[in-house]
Amino acid sequence: NRQILLASRPVGAPVPENFRLVESAVPSPGPGQMLLRHIWMSLDPYMRGRMSDAKSYAEPVAINDVMPCGAVAWVVESNLEGYQPGDLVMSYTAGWQDYSLSDGSMVFRLDPNMPHPSQALGVLGMPGFTGYMGLLDIGQPKPGETVVVAAATGPVGSVVGQVAKLKGCRVVGIAGGPDKCAYAVDELGFDACLDHRLDSLPEDLANACPDGIDVYFENAGGKVFDAVMPLLNPHSRVPVCGLIAQYNATELPPGPDRLPQLMRLLLSQRIRMQAFIIFDNYGPHYPEFLAEMTPWVAEGKVKVREHRIEGLENAPQGLIGLLEGQNFGKVVVKIAD
Ligand code: NDP
Repeated sequence: NRQILLASRPVGAPVPENFRLVESAVPSPGPGQMLLRHIWMSLDPYMRGRMSDAKSYAEPVAINDVMPCGAVAWVVESNLEGYQPGDLVMSYTAGWQDYSLSDGSMVFRLDPNMPHPSQALGVLGMPGFTGYMGLLDIGQPKPGETVVVAAATGPVGSVVGQVAKLKGCRVVGIAGGPDKCAYAVDELGFDACLDHRLDSLPEDLANACPDGIDVYFENAGGKVFDAVMPLLNPHSRVPVCGLIAQYNATELPPGPDRLPQLMRLLLSQRIRMQAFIIFDNYGPHYPEFLAEMTPWVAEGKVKVREHRIEGLENAPQGLIGLLEGQNFGKVVVKIAD
């Protein structure tokens, strides 16, 4: 069983030395357990948080523990009622390894004939659920309103924008570079998409949002939020989902301190800004999300793009790249056939 462990905690951006590949015997399932063989594993921005021991919503990974991830897996052996060898499942507690033991918690059965099982890690899994619930429950988008979302071509942002289009909104994406922006407009159907690497982002965003912003789905923070702030409309909604621009930061950004400005804006414009952690806030809604999203994907109403990496040993570089925007689409790692 090949495993990738957290070897040391990163300072700033993670580096390959923060990870270690080891090999050990394949574990045997005890009573009430099953053995899973991982096929596709997911890389997600939250993993950067788990590598750090700063206070967060989840416990940090201990040094020399297996890096966490969700995976699509086959059941190999089962002492757990209801699961048989050959069942296809999505396990949210798999880890960066070939095999894991599971007692069935945070495991969801998949249709073994589903056309693209890796989609259970993205549009039909945790990230898709995040975009869907954050937009609809906190964002409350109404037809004709303007919705802005960054990381627009990733699994969360692409769902936010496409669902907002289905709800009749004007959608402005923000992404890194011209290829991603062209994809967001031409393939995903966004009304506009702006490159956050350009210094002109504040003016570009103002031009793309002539009626201001009604919903800003926050994936990024940093310069993107600075550009969004002055455009937020009275009674606008800001689902706070992620702050990827600051995950590798080692200190606060240079001043002046803009917190008083933000607080004044929230009050004077009566803005609703609410953070959420998907399974913590919305776990019981997972089946209704799947019931609505599965046909949207099958009918092509919600389009999907994956960034595929081959081999467990390439996962560290995949996570390092994800945090820098080197991915184009949902990052999945193929570790078995
Ligand atoms: P993505 O696959 O979209 O990957 C992250 C992307 O962030 C990169 O590809 C890059 O895209 C963008 N990015 C990186 N640095 C910056 C920066 N400085 N400014 C703006 N954008 C940047 O990730 P996900 O779709 O999986 O996740 C999107 C966000 O949602 C993350 O912040 C994540 O932490 C959050 N999240 C929150 C959850 C919750 O429960 N609250 C659950 C799941 C995700 P580009 O090149 O386009 O800039």
